Amino acid sequence: MPIRPDAVSREGSRPGEIDYRLARLALVTEYRAGHLSVNDVCDAHPELIRAAQQVGEPTTDLCPICEDANLVIVRYVFGPRLPAHGRCVTTAAEMERLRQRKGEFTVYAVEACPSCAFNHLRRSYPLKR
Ligand SMILES: [Zn+2]
Repeated sequence: MPIRPDAVSREGSRPGEIDYRLARLALVTEYRAGHLSVNDVCDAHPELIRAAQQVGEPTTDLCPICEDANLVIVRYVFGPRLPAHGRCVTTAAEMERLRQRKGEFTVYAVEACPSCAFNHLRRSYPLKR
C-alpha cells in the first residue's frame, strides 16, 4: 500500500503535538491483510464506548473497520492531581479550567467507533501551548 503524504506520522503543527495516523494506518493495513482479527482492533473499554456514545465529538471519518458509523473523539487529560487513568473532559469550559491550573497537562484525543468498538489514539498535545 502506498503511503499517502497526509498519513505520515509526524510532529503536529504545534509544539509537542504528536499525530498517530501512521500507526493507525499500519494497524488497519494489518487488519485488512488478515493478520489481525476484529477482536484485536475492536477492543475499546466499555467506559470509552459509553463516553463516545454520550459525550464524544462527532467526526466525518467513517470507521475503517466496520464502515458502519463515523468515528467520534473522546479527550482524556493527564496531569497533576488527576486520576491515573486520566480525566475524560467533555466541555470547553472544563478544559479551560484545567488549563488555568498549575502544572503540565497532556491531552490524548482518542477516536472510537460507537458501533464496533474500534479505537485508536489520534493525537496527543500539551494542554498549554
Ligand atoms: Zn466501527
